[in-house]
Amino acid sequence: MFEQVKLTYSNEALEPYIDTLTMETHYGKHHATYTKNFNDAVAKAGLEGKTAEEILAGLDSVSDEAVRKALRNNGGGYYNHNLYFECFSPDPVKAPTGALLDKINEKFGSVDALKEELSKLAAGQFGSGWAWLSANKAGDLMVSASPNQDNPISEGKGFIPIIALDVWEHAYYLKYKNLRPDYIKNFFEILDWSKVEEVYARVTNS
Ligand code: MN
Repeated sequence: MFEQVKLTYSNEALEPYIDTLTMETHYGKHHATYTKNFNDAVAKAGLEGKTAEEILAGLDSVSDEAVRKALRNNGGGYYNHNLYFECFSPDPVKAPTGALLDKINEKFGSVDALKEELSKLAAGQFGSGWAWLSANKAGDLMVSASPNQDNPISEGKGFIPIIALDVWEHAYYLKYKNLRPDYIKNFFEILDWSKVEEVYARVTNS
């Protein structure tokens, strides 16, 4: 059974950057529903025992189209939100260090330049979707955006997300209305780079 990541903070704790009602709805309702529907689809597909990453990387091997679609949408919804909620903190470490910092500087020039690229992709994603910073086992980095609940893992290039920036309206609309760029700017106010480094270590040591 796949389970939602346990929050290390309360629904109120990310105020004023993410409001309480959005947390209650986003984590408590949307993410919970993706997780339930993912578990149902995994059972239908007979994929119990596989990791979510294995399932997302192997969607093409699921022959039943309706089940494949359910795994893609709800598996992505489950996995993407786990990463999204895992990397927030009300008292975040505001900058990366070590190997991740070196790779960011090498690839993007600076952390600010990376944030700018990621923000541009997130603001430019038409409709619902995500912007990502991803890494491969060698530690190389890539930024990208995806529609719906799609995830770079399913693209088969060996990249796994380490930052997940949700730009579905359900992530920000209650507080920010149409001002997606304001939400994106504030996302970085609660992004805990020590968590991102943990995920980077998980990906590069795997
Ligand atoms: Mn979402």
